[in-house]
Amino acid sequence: MSAPTRWPLHPPPGELESLSSWLARIAELYRMPVPELVGPNLGVLTEIPDRLDEDAPAELLRALATATAVPLARLKAMTLPGWVPWLFDSFPMPERDGEDTFYSYVRQDSVLLAPGEATRFEATRRRAWRGPWIPETWMDRSCPLCTADPDPHRSWVWTLPLAIGCTIHRRRLLRREELLTAELAGADIVGAPIAEPVATLENYTHQGLTTGSVRLPGRRVHVAVWFRLLRTLLDELSLSTTGLSRASARILTQVWQVAELTPRAGIRIWQPYELLPWTRQEGLLTAAAVAVDLVAQRRLRPRGSLAAVLAPPHAEPVYPGEDPCRTPDSPAARSRILDTRALYRRADYSELFDELARGVRTDPDTARRVLVFLTATDPSPANLDRERDILIRDTGMPPDFVRTRAETETLLILHGHDPGEITRVLTEFSAESPSHRISGPAADLFVPDDLARLRARLDR
Ligand SMILES: [Zn+2]
Repeated sequence: MSAPTRWPLHPPPGELESLSSWLARIAELYRMPVPELVGPNLGVLTEIPDRLDEDAPAELLRALATATAVPLARLKAMTLPGWVPWLFDSFPMPERDGEDTFYSYVRQDSVLLAPGEATRFEATRRRAWRGPWIPETWMDRSCPLCTADPDPHRSWVWTLPLAIGCTIHRRRLLRREELLTAELAGADIVGAPIAEPVATLENYTHQGLTTGSVRLPGRRVHVAVWFRLLRTLLDELSLSTTGLSRASARILTQVWQVAELTPRAGIRIWQPYELLPWTRQEGLLTAAAVAVDLVAQRRLRPRGSLAAVLAPPHAEPVYPGEDPCRTPDSPAARSRILDTRALYRRADYSELFDELARGVRTDPDTARRVLVFLTATDPSPANLDRERDILIRDTGMPPDFVRTRAETETLLILHGHDPGEITRVLTEFSAESPSHRISGPAADLFVPDDLARLRARLDR
């Protein structure tokens, strides 16, 4: 077996693209079938499975990383097992773990219903259940815009009942039979645009898949929390109101009325979401989007343990937008406003606040210094999240201006870097921070320039 060498042509993987789609594109470039491209050519002796996105041999991934310079972690994230533990607890889920997985993933928390209120069922009694988000048979859907490209991309997300639309183009994904019908009728085969409130729900899912966290109206949550929250909500909406408290039954009825859909999406006999036909899953996803929207507007009073993250903390004045007549501040003005003790003097407060807000909005370093100041007495992650969300809401600070160490780590993993290398480079970077005139808690907060520097070091 010869050692794999760098392929001369290797287009980078697309956003959320599956391993099989990317390899098909490369194989097309070399005009050879995928098994030949990755077998003899790469020197991989292991048998290549048909469904690479579910079970890519470790040997193949290692050889691909060498041949294409795409980091191993990025390659893994193009396959379903690469999403353990964020989207799945395990992949594939051992059959004996079915009940435990269902109750820990779906029922540990609650959203609309009071904790522990959901009717108990034996999730795996009637039919085998393969785990959260895994349908009985893989879905065959595609985005006509992603695939219309001369170099068509396919996403692993399309095979799961996770979203109604392509989260990149915000168009409805079409099933093979829909594509065929449209083609035969000579009709336009671009899926219908995804309208609100489903668009917001799917945008949360997209944020989670591409950045590792989701900024909800209440606070930012890790992507693993978002997927568990959404799956719990879908389960609650699939329940009959018989046997629930009157308050919870009212909440479910209200959601279905606003959604203008048949309650429970027409389900008669309860089954886990993954075992339902797509039409029912689509109804449940739509109702989930309606519920999330109603909670965000405070038109619904959810009773669940996770509900608080969906509602805005409390009504406060919102940043009204930039005054186009004002010019940006000079650095001197910024350091003057950062004489932070002045913040708490009543006089000039409003003017100072305006100046400060402009700094926070336009300069990541200012945003970081203000956040460190605001969290000086309580530097806990929860308080940091809270203060940052207030800055985002009230001053218009871009959400990616200041990231914590954990968020930076997650993001770098999503960009495909090796977790061990990331820890080493982050520690090294924080240790150097005094030479950049950054000290104390600020050394563990990262601005976009830091991220670019970290990525450059990791790419070396
Ligand atoms: Zn698309």
